[in-house]
Formats: sequence, structure tokens, C-alpha cells
Amino acid sequence: MTGKAYCGKCGAGLRGDGGTSKTGETHYYYACSSRKRYKNCDLKNVKKKWLESMVVDVTAKNILQDDVIDIIATRCEKLSIAEHDNQAQRNILTSQLASVNKSLSNIIKAIEEGIITSTTKQRLNELEEQKAQLESEMTEQIVQPTLSKKQIAYMLTQFKADEAAELTEEYRKDLIECFVNSVYVFGDKLIITYNLLQKEKAELFSIEYALNSSALILSGGGEGN
Ligand SMILES: [Zn+2]
Repeated sequence: MTGKAYCGKCGAGLRGDGGTSKTGETHYYYACSSRKRYKNCDLKNVKKKWLESMVVDVTAKNILQDDVIDIIATRCEKLSIAEHDNQAQRNILTSQLASVNKSLSNIIKAIEEGIITSTTKQRLNELEEQKAQLESEMTEQIVQPTLSKKQIAYMLTQFKADEAAELTEEYRKDLIECFVNSVYVFGDKLIITYNLLQKEKAELFSIEYALNSSALILSGGGEGN
């Protein structure tokens, strides 16, 4: 979790460290890097295992609930569509099609008035080909999300399905890597921020977890909220 864990008191990163007790056992913990260096912070060290399982538990119990999965999947799908929507290209195609249609109706008028030459006939064929081509390009412009809501929900549910099973090291690592953006450790609470999309457009969800009670506040944040 190094690189994701921060000191809530001073904002410095938490650094993984270890020490050996009198019994010869090694203890791993996270320490405020600013406190270690400048002694200007009073955040107590937190045990590595404890912090990691807190984060995994809070995530599995709260983020991976059906209603939250639904919210996340809906947002992801919307964003995926917005990212691939090319309004400018569709506008160009629409105006090209309008112009082809206008030429076609002019030619048809000419034909009705009895002006038929081999050039008219050739021009008519060309325009009809262009029209078909433009119409097929426009159909391709209808935006499909790269990941549908259903697919996203399925991926999230896969994580949840493992919840009851023994939480393996691998699973814990995946869960943190996939969802956790940052963890701020305070003396009395944790604030976990979730990275629900790709980095550039992360919509953040954060959870505040009070350490001395089971009070838990789940709040949505970021854009589109
Ligand atoms: Zn600190």
C-alpha cells in the first residue's frame, strides 16, 4: 500500500518499515515519513497487517454492495459513452448527407422534366452510392460503450463473490490495486478514497471509517455527482 497511504494529520506519505522485537519477531508497520524525518507530526505507527485488512474489509463490505455496484456501473457506462462520442464527426456526416439528398432531388426533378442524358444517369448512380456510403458511416457512429454497465457490474460482483471465501493475499492485493486510490490515516479514523475509473477521469468515492466506533459514512464525490 506504499504510495497509496498518507498521514491524515500532516499529509505526508506513510512509509513501510519493520522492527525486531525482543523475542526476535519482525513487526511491519507504516509510519508517517514526515514524523520520522522532521519530528513534526504525532501520528502513531500503524501495524501493516492491521491497516491492510481494515482497508480490505471496509472495501468488501461497503463498496461491493449491490446498490453501490449499480451506481458505479451506471457512471462508468456513461463515461465510456462520452469518451467515445464524436459529435463533430456526426455533424459532418449529417451535412454531407443533406447535400447529397439535395443534389438527388435536383436530378430527379430534371428527370421528371424530361432532361435525361447519359451524364444525368451516371450522376444519379454516383449520388445514390454516396448516399448509401454516408448512411452506413452514420450507423457506425452510433456509440457503443467499450464496457457496458452489465460488464462493469459483473466485474465488481466477481470481487464480491470472493468475499465469503478465504481472503487470499492475491485477492487482497487485487482489491487494493483495483479500487483504492488513497488511504488517509488519522489518529481516530481512516478516510479511504476509491478509484473507480481510469486515472485521468477518476470519479472518487470516499469512505470515512471511525476507528473507535463502527460509525461509517459513505459518500459519493467527484464529478457527475
Ligand atoms: Zn504526519
